[in-house]
Amino acid sequence: MELLYRSTRSTEKTVTASEAILKGLADDGGLFVPERIPKLDVSMEELKEMTYQETAYTVMKQFLTDFTEEELKRCIASAYDSKFDTEEIAPLAKVGDTYHLELFHGATIAFKDMALSILPHLLTTSAKKNHVKNEIVILTATSGDTGKAALAGFADVPGTRIIVFYPKGGVSRVQELQMVTQKGANTSVVAIHGNFDNAQSGVKAIFEDKELAKELDVCGYQFSSANSINIGRLVPQVVYYVYAYAKLLKNKEISAGETINVAVPTGNFGNILAAYYAKQMGVPIARLICASNENKVLFDFFQTGKYDRNREFVLTSSPSMDILISSNLERLIYTIAGGNARKNAELMQSLKERGVYEITSEMKEKLEDFVGGYATEAQTSTKIQKTYQETGYVMDTHTAVAAYVCREYREKSGDVRKALVASTASPYKFAHSVMTAIDEKYKDWEEFELIDELHKISGMEIPAAIEEIRNAKIRHTRECDADKMKETVKEILKG
Ligand SMILES: *Cc1c(COP(=O)(O)O)cnc(C)c1O
Repeated sequence: MELLYRSTRSTEKTVTASEAILKGLADDGGLFVPERIPKLDVSMEELKEMTYQETAYTVMKQFLTDFTEEELKRCIASAYDSKFDTEEIAPLAKVGDTYHLELFHGATIAFKDMALSILPHLLTTSAKKNHVKNEIVILTATSGDTGKAALAGFADVPGTRIIVFYPKGGVSRVQELQMVTQKGANTSVVAIHGNFDNAQSGVKAIFEDKELAKELDVCGYQFSSANSINIGRLVPQVVYYVYAYAKLLKNKEISAGETINVAVPTGNFGNILAAYYAKQMGVPIARLICASNENKVLFDFFQTGKYDRNREFVLTSSPSMDILISSNLERLIYTIAGGNARKNAELMQSLKERGVYEITSEMKEKLEDFVGGYATEAQTSTKIQKTYQETGYVMDTHTAVAAYVCREYREKSGDVRKALVASTASPYKFAHSVMTAIDEKYKDWEEFELIDELHKISGMEIPAAIEEIRNAKIRHTRECDADKMKETVKEILKG
């Protein structure tokens, strides 16, 4: 059955999956959502025996109904290949009494690879299907990991250009090096003087600028997005929750039908929304535990029903979650408003104008699947240290936020269901924070010394992504003010 997509801000118009992927954001500034969430059309018994690629096809074909079997299978095969350092693609690790779903085995060692290794293929396939002649310009704001994963995915892909904006001083050293050393004639990287929210708002404003779109169309360009506002990123993320549940079952860690909780370190709300979609598809997930760092705007929202971004932006050791405007939350708001686009648009207008909105009590009742929690910087680093001491497992700072919140929820609520923690980055990507959490003595060590030391104490192979940047040449040095992003994009495209 064909599945169409609508904007969260006006529901009259529908588009196909490939059109939604091409556009990224709807014309009215809303996000594309599927008309309904399809139910899994195979049993867990069958899913148990499937490879990652087979699971991906099974899940994605239900969302991307205008892709042919051949097209979709080709996208999947080109994405989930030897770029990943394990055939399992997303392996499970048992750490104490929780299961870590390791989503960092791709080319840039963060979970963004799970979707961004396939998005370029989905996008170029969509362009062909819709007879697009223009070059597609991917505009991306990054809190650190999306940028590199998108650059790696789109580098030298014919018919595309990619421009990444990251907050200067707001990403880890490894994250920055990964981006500024990126090869590829079609890639541009810009450090903005501002934070991630500035970058994301700037990109959204460029998307909504109809005049600019016309101007660039004349030059043969059109924009699309690699951020998780693109449905082409969200859908591939549903896959690994289905896969993880099936593997827990296969490994006899759970029994058929047993419900589990899922804890997700959250920033833009994309990853946890994918888990919510997986639940609606029929995966037996009970609670979705939304873990924040000290930028705990989502925790407060789940407590009070009030979303309030008017607060200090804190730079933490989990920079990929340093976000005060979680753009994917809009998809959930639309859902709990019963698909009422007018109501959603009103709330988003309020967020834009006043930085705050409040949902109705009726809407709040529909949030009972979600639990909010947060970890302070001290709690995060203690979690890394204690886990290392007790189990020998080294986790990154983002994962530690979720692992902490997951444990706290279990203790406070008495809900002892088995729990899956989305493990979103390799500890190598945040070596300084991880190593100083384990031992203060590493405080003044140099980045690559820490990386070698991390290898020694954990026995984990140093990923190729790290070796690549050790001596790589810096290729991108462009910077701009947060209010000059549009001019910068023009310069790059016309220059
Ligand atoms: C992007 C990112 C997150 C947050 O994911 P969202 O989908 O934005 O909520 C968490 N951890 C890491 C390592 C990330 O790169």
